[in-house]
Amino acid sequence: MAKSPHEASVEDEIKDTSMGAPHVVLLGAGASRAAFSRGDRNSRILPLMDDFVQHVGIGELLKRAGVPGDAPNFETAYSSLVSDPNMAAVRQELESRILEYFSSLEMPESPTIFDHLLLAMRPKDVIATFNWDPFLLEAVRRNNHILKGQVPALLFLHGNVAAGFCTKDRVNGFRGAICSKCKQPMPGLPLLYPITQKNYENDPAIATAWSYMKLVLKKTFMFTVFGYGAPASDTAALNLLKDAWGNVEDRSLEQTELIDIRSKEDLTKTWDPFIHTHHYEIHNDFFDSWIARHPRRSGEAYWNQYMMAKFISNNRIPQSTTLKELWDWYKPLFDAEQSRGEVV
Ligand SMILES: [Zn+2]
Repeated sequence: MAKSPHEASVEDEIKDTSMGAPHVVLLGAGASRAAFSRGDRNSRILPLMDDFVQHVGIGELLKRAGVPGDAPNFETAYSSLVSDPNMAAVRQELESRILEYFSSLEMPESPTIFDHLLLAMRPKDVIATFNWDPFLLEAVRRNNHILKGQVPALLFLHGNVAAGFCTKDRVNGFRGAICSKCKQPMPGLPLLYPITQKNYENDPAIATAWSYMKLVLKKTFMFTVFGYGAPASDTAALNLLKDAWGNVEDRSLEQTELIDIRSKEDLTKTWDPFIHTHHYEIHNDFFDSWIARHPRRSGEAYWNQYMMAKFISNNRIPQSTTLKELWDWYKPLFDAEQSRGEVV
């Protein structure tokens, strides 16, 4: 009897290749909005740059500080405060309000895109994010007994409300958790605000995340960008990413995948420096992405399709399940990895 795509994914594809290159995913605000289109467990909205002021509830504060406009875009509002020394107290108040808002966000009980991302990617892979919300780390917290700590590398490129870092021991973890080496609570990561010239070297945790990002971008076979609009305030970030990617002519084998609801023209224009000829895919739904169609086997599927020119079947992540059902579905994939010596 013919094997189901799930069985084939478990048994065959992993044997076909020893491809250990990382799959790198970069998340922007649009990813969190897509994951929680109607808000978090308590209907709190995941803001984008344009509606940030409204949803985080900082309009009054900005108005009192004399920031022009009724509901300004956060990027514009922040840049008018940043260079004024008289605005230090306002910036501090803004920081604590933002930290409070993002720290209060809660995951619903059912599986979210963050659970899917974490379960669908292997320890060799990387999830980098510009987002401040705690969902990626919440997903680690609730899936970790299944993954046993073998999660993809998580890089918080603009800081995060739930992440901590022990500078002395260079250990990453949850904000406030005890460092495994010095047994002291780990301080949180700073949040980097939208200013054009961000200095990614100032904070050791963020500098470490960026060095790792630059390294893995050189080695990746696939770069997936999910819901990241690359706003003008992120010129510094984009330049760093472009430098790490290098000359697009030298990346003739790599695939760039964009998960976004913007138009193809808009997206290809933004990501042109990362796209070699026709080597890109655009999906407006995460569940149509390469990761969601080939969970834990994105490298093997890539190898078979693009290097070996083989027909490959999709092994889509099941939707409308409980977390428990999802874990059961993944178990044969974890077992296959374990039996070939990969620690999972
Ligand atoms: Zn420590």
